[in-house]
Amino acid sequence: MKIDLEKKVSLAGIMIYLLFNLISSFGSSFLKVSFLDVGQGDSILIESPCHKRILVDGGENAETLYSLADEIPFGSKKIDIVVLTHPHLDHIGGLIDVIRFYDISEVWLNPVVYESLYFEIFLKYVCDKDISIKLVENTFSIDIDGVRFRVLWPVTCQYSGEYGINDAGLSTSISMNYASKGMKTCQISRCLSFDENVNNDSIVLLVTFGDFNLLLMGDAENEVESELLSSTNSLEFDDIDVLKAGHHCSKTASSQAFLEKTNPDLVICSCGKDNKFGHPHEETLETFDSLDIDYLRTDFEGTIRVKTDGLSWQRY
Ligand SMILES: [Zn+2]
Repeated sequence: MKIDLEKKVSLAGIMIYLLFNLISSFGSSFLKVSFLDVGQGDSILIESPCHKRILVDGGENAETLYSLADEIPFGSKKIDIVVLTHPHLDHIGGLIDVIRFYDISEVWLNPVVYESLYFEIFLKYVCDKDISIKLVENTFSIDIDGVRFRVLWPVTCQYSGEYGINDAGLSTSISMNYASKGMKTCQISRCLSFDENVNNDSIVLLVTFGDFNLLLMGDAENEVESELLSSTNSLEFDDIDVLKAGHHCSKTASSQAFLEKTNPDLVICSCGKDNKFGHPHEETLETFDSLDIDYLRTDFEGTIRVKTDGLSWQRY
């Protein structure tokens, strides 16, 4: 009798587990966005209504894995797309562990010429794991579960000269041959930097779901904001709900003209506690205040989560 009862209890547990997974697989009607608390850096996890995951940047170090574990159910190792906005350490450092630990289908990156050991290691792992690479050399858009991802920047790639992974200068391609270490060989085209400031080579992403608009600026600064304002696409971002401000809310980004154009309901400053750069800069916060724009900081709030059904949005 006792054994029967135990069997029934465990059977009921299995049924509940299977039912939970079945319901989860149907998806929700929400787009969810988590601005992860990764210290000084950026990492944003986007989950589509049918649970496709897009990770934009990966912070500086392994802290990102801990933050991701709070968002992604235990046992699930799938991330559909990883977007590397630009190869600075506070965006790429944590991605190296993410690439190693998770199953990634595709990586988007701006193949800008930039000498960095971390960029080299990152590309090695992407190549060795046969992850599809999408070179973001021009604007484009794709739809995933009704969510539109539109790349607004960079707009053009100026292909560079000679090859060389350690060339800080000109190269048309990088050949990574690690056959001696048992790693695979890859080759990718490279683009010249927009203005030698790699922050301004950041991929800028507009994410739209119904009436909800999210603008992710990477570390793009005032120069990119000016280019976007004068572009023919500028009408597309004149009603932003949530803006992940460029360059950790530094004074080198979030110009008044750009904020007036985008008119965000909420700005996110992704930055670490007591960081050595003084982000977010006081001048930038004053500009937000003067325009009556609400802002939140990951160094104060921890991970910041919003969700939307395409009509309205809320923190959760
Ligand atoms: Zn940064």
